[in-house]
Amino acid sequence: MTLKLEINPIKEWLPHIDNPLLVSGPCSLESEEQALETAKLLAQDKRVFIYRGGVWKPRTRPGSFEGVGSIGLKWLQTVKKETGLPVGTEVANAQHTEEALNAGLDVLWIGARSTASPFVVQEIADVVKGTDAVIMIKNPVNPDVQLWMGAVERINQAGIKNIVAIHRGFTPFRETKYRNYPNWKTVIELKRLLPNLPIICDPSHIAGKREYLYEISQKAFDMGMEGLMIESHRDPSCAMSDAAQQLTPADLGKLLDKLVIRHENA
Ligand code: PEP
Ligand code: MN
Repeated sequence: MTLKLEINPIKEWLPHIDNPLLVSGPCSLESEEQALETAKLLAQDKRVFIYRGGVWKPRTRPGSFEGVGSIGLKWLQTVKKETGLPVGTEVANAQHTEEALNAGLDVLWIGARSTASPFVVQEIADVVKGTDAVIMIKNPVNPDVQLWMGAVERINQAGIKNIVAIHRGFTPFRETKYRNYPNWKTVIELKRLLPNLPIICDPSHIAGKREYLYEISQKAFDMGMEGLMIESHRDPSCAMSDAAQQLTPADLGKLLDKLVIRHENA
């Protein structure tokens, strides 16, 4: 079964895009200075189109840094004002979604742990209903294409047409060098089911380590994926979450220089 949902191509809501969609910024926002300095460095690289910054962090176990919370939305407003970049964060319940929309964020994304819960996705869908938000939907932690597709449908049924799916890998069921294993067959299957859905790749959460970002990003482009979400930080060694996988904005630029981007399937 193939579903032709009313989903806009990326160019519809980001008209100046002339490259793959590149979303970048810190795993977690930590301070206004860290958010803004990272953003200013990224904005110098005209290939970055959207700034990301996590403010509510879904940590697998309690006790790790759980994000700065609502104050981070103000920092994202500052980033937007100072750099002109559209800004986005992860939302995981109705309250986050309301606050993020009220703060004027351009992009909201649903994380892998949330996509796995239809109740959570529906709760978010009910809040974004009738808005022109861009909603990005990461794959669920488990390789269930129907669950991923169902989340896209729930958001689309709320009238949202600006939707992007993100492949961030699945919880490994066997030993792998990566933090989460990529399953390109699932991506192909999602594209077959929803042919007009833009799909990008999050090599950061697949890799878990900087050294693997290049091979995963290149594979994503070879598969015809339409962009990347890559975590970056002004000083990854001090990052309060996901330190091993983040890049400095300068290293992100070098990675982009190396990648061969194919447009034929985009
Ligand atoms: C993130 O983007 O920082 C994040 C927590 O991602 P995921 O939902 O892919 O684990
Ligand atoms: Mn992260």
